[in-house]
Amino acid sequence: MKMNKRKNVLLMAAVLSLSVSVTATDFIYRPASPIEISVDLQRVEGGHLERFKKAYEIQRLSENIYWVSASDYSVTVLVGKDNVLLIDVPYGIGKRLIQAIKSITDKPINAIVYSHAHADHIGDSGVILKELENSDIKIYATKEVKDSLISHKVTLPAPITNIISDGLDFEGHHFEVFSDLNGHTPDNTAFLINDGGRKILHAVDLVHPGSLEFRSFSNVEDAIAYKNDIDTLLSMDWDVMVPGHSNIGYREDVRFVQTYIADVQDYIHEGFAKADFSVHLKGETPFEWYGGYSDEIIDHAHKRMADKYRKGREQVFDIVARSHIRVMFWAMFARAL
Ligand SMILES: [Zn+2]
Repeated sequence: MKMNKRKNVLLMAAVLSLSVSVTATDFIYRPASPIEISVDLQRVEGGHLERFKKAYEIQRLSENIYWVSASDYSVTVLVGKDNVLLIDVPYGIGKRLIQAIKSITDKPINAIVYSHAHADHIGDSGVILKELENSDIKIYATKEVKDSLISHKVTLPAPITNIISDGLDFEGHHFEVFSDLNGHTPDNTAFLINDGGRKILHAVDLVHPGSLEFRSFSNVEDAIAYKNDIDTLLSMDWDVMVPGHSNIGYREDVRFVQTYIADVQDYIHEGFAKADFSVHLKGETPFEWYGGYSDEIIDHAHKRMADKYRKGREQVFDIVARSHIRVMFWAMFARAL
């Protein structure tokens, strides 16, 4: 009996390690190449620190489109027939983006597109105009992005010159524009470009491929809307993603986030079912009751998440997981979900 139990444990361990290694080998890791078009599930090799120290990295995604990364930010570069279009210009990397683009083409940059009003993703657009001494570069964004820049008093990015809504055409290339992503920010915009059959999605601050998500799911403004955004991404027809941070993304990465969020919500529901509000009714401030009650639920969900997700990614889990649960808990609590 003991032997059988031991054998079962060994068998389970073997199955588990097999499933882990199958997941790991799903992705193909290669050095970034500005020449070779990446294949499906190909990521850029190298760890986060290594990536951060390089001036920039370029991976060709299709005939005309490139993922360009610097300081852990990523942008989409489209080399058109005569000119170059750039989606996003993160703060602090404008000069390096110019160098990167010069290394792949002699064609000039004449169009920049903004994904959303956060200056960390678009703050160096003015640097591009200044460095290239070209104030005629067109700046495209939706009206929502323009309104957010005004209402948030974000003045660093170069002013928007062209408002876009459903689509954007650039030298024979058509971009579908999706402005119904509302979790990270209400103005967050995704762009889908079919280049020679490969469907490339630029959608930022939603998914960090190969990692758990950043703090509070990248500081979501609305965690329930963020969950809906993840579902929306999976309902769209695309092959490869430029996610704004980390590595090149695929549908598998979005599915991982979808499952992770479903688990966060399930374990919060478990905590809700177990926690007794009346136990925490003490002290003179109502915040003490809510503090004890919400901590009990969040602690329960955190322990359940740790059992499933912490092993093998302890460092990142311990930094971000509690913030994911907390932000989702309050979004669910406010809606009585
Ligand atoms: Zn953002």
